Amino acid sequence: MIPSVHLRPGFVQPVWAGHPWVFAQAIARTTGTPAPGDEVSVVDPEGKTLGRGFWSPESAIPVRLLTRDAGVALDAAFLQARIEEAARWRRALLGLPSPDNTGYRLVNADGDALPGLTVDVFGDAASVQFGTIGMKRRADVILDAVTRAAGVTRVYEVGSDRHQQREGFTVTEGIVRGEGPPLLSFTEGDVRFSVAAPGSAGGGQKTGYYFDQRENRAAVAALASGGRVLDAFSYVGGFGLAAAKAGAREVVCVDSSASALAAGQRIAEDNGLADRVAYKKGDVRDVLGELGRAGERFDVVVIDPPKLAHSAREVEKAMANYRRLNAGAAQLVRDGGVLVTCSCSGSVTADTFLRAVALGARDMGRAAQVIAVRGAAGDHPSMAAFPEGRYLKCVIARLA
Ligand code: SAH
Repeated sequence: MIPSVHLRPGFVQPVWAGHPWVFAQAIARTTGTPAPGDEVSVVDPEGKTLGRGFWSPESAIPVRLLTRDAGVALDAAFLQARIEEAARWRRALLGLPSPDNTGYRLVNADGDALPGLTVDVFGDAASVQFGTIGMKRRADVILDAVTRAAGVTRVYEVGSDRHQQREGFTVTEGIVRGEGPPLLSFTEGDVRFSVAAPGSAGGGQKTGYYFDQRENRAAVAALASGGRVLDAFSYVGGFGLAAAKAGAREVVCVDSSASALAAGQRIAEDNGLADRVAYKKGDVRDVLGELGRAGERFDVVVIDPPKLAHSAREVEKAMANYRRLNAGAAQLVRDGGVLVTCSCSGSVTADTFLRAVALGARDMGRAAQVIAVRGAAGDHPSMAAFPEGRYLKCVIARLA
């Protein structure tokens, strides 16, 4: 018998319906003495097993369910099969990877029923981020399975953040399988990218690149042909480069990170787009106002800020910031031009975000006519019962 975690009455429904997280306050007691990362079964007050996961005693979420099947052990074969399944359905349903898109997310944690594991593939390399002590303890099995399922020759581990420390482990970023140059190279929509590998000088942000916006970049690029585009919070310029490749006449990328801009400049040169894509260092909150005062106008303005609300408590403050940013962006959109405005704050719903967009536009005397409300690309799936997985909103609006 593996140790079991017993839920309190009144805390069962979301878990039963498919939410993978068991919060600390939902736990009445544990039987047995699980060590950090051990397999546990989760049991309802009637004694029925709801599923199994790994034990994270120091976390606010001590268990994340990996299976609903009471009889299935979370062993090496289980993890290998899940990782292979993630690769298989992405090939079958999304056509990923393809010659045009060799970078993609192979494992999206809870969305792939592998909570605590995030894997991105960059051509012949992959990056792995462990989010729970349970996954970290099984790193050897996972790294081998990822290497095989993704068909890569090298794997990097990324981290280390406060969340991981709380789970009880630290990460030394860098290469953990194979060897090769400290560069992650991949193609997205015909643009060739290369970014610094985790752990190397100028190492990339997060897992190296933001694949969740891939389909949104393509949608925006299709609107941008012949136009003048502002890509604010650009990182290496994913939106702007896609627009330039699709025929945008002039693109300005703005970010506060010098290393992201340097990488972007190099990518623009490699793709023969440097004559049309300019990189500018600055704080977007200031730059929007400066451009506005200078009378600059664009056909398409993209704003993709980092997460502004980290929890439900921060939503109100974040709303004020989203409103201000959207006002600043709206004033730069020419009459009848397009605003592309994104939020990756999981605690801000699409409707709440749209309100901030409407108010920001209104502050500038504009009305936002929404053409599309988009989310993350298909390789970032989310379970229906797991709204936290639908963190990304990308609103495309025409500004009258
Ligand atoms: N649009 C990008 C991803 C943006 S991530 C893409 O498609 O890949 C958010 C970016 O905002 C990061 O690159 C970060 O460096 C930048 N950033 C954060 N705060 C900023 C600020 N105040 N001004 C300018 N850039 C900022």
